[in-house]
Amino acid sequence: MKKPSIPDISEKLAAPLQAIASPQRIALLLAIGNGEACVCHLEAALGWRQAYISQHLMALRKADILQDRREGRYVYYRLKTASYLDLILDSATLSGLSAETVSAVINTQTYPSCECPHCTPAVIPIDTLRVKTSS
Ligand SMILES: [Zn+2]
Repeated sequence: MKKPSIPDISEKLAAPLQAIASPQRIALLLAIGNGEACVCHLEAALGWRQAYISQHLMALRKADILQDRREGRYVYYRLKTASYLDLILDSATLSGLSAETVSAVINTQTYPSCECPHCTPAVIPIDTLRVKTSS
């Protein structure tokens, strides 16, 4: 087998870097983090309009960075591999930010304005809690 040339290898190496090389896409990956997030959650986390978020999510999915899963009325997005978060953390060092600063904003928050199951745990209807007594 022929040894791949530096230009061949370089092109391959550039692909994942190019796929996430915009502040918007990095923001989405940070907001999704190691877990899952629906569009409403990303709206709350980033303060962007849904159409704008969807457009970037679509691109990240097409680049095989994100996968989605539907559950009821929510579509959840997750990273296919945490390696992209590692890449972002490496970039933190290169950009003069501490890895701690970046780690602190990786999806851990809940948002009062978001109604996703992550932010608003299911409210059990009070009727189902009432114990039926036969008195
Ligand atoms: Zn949420």
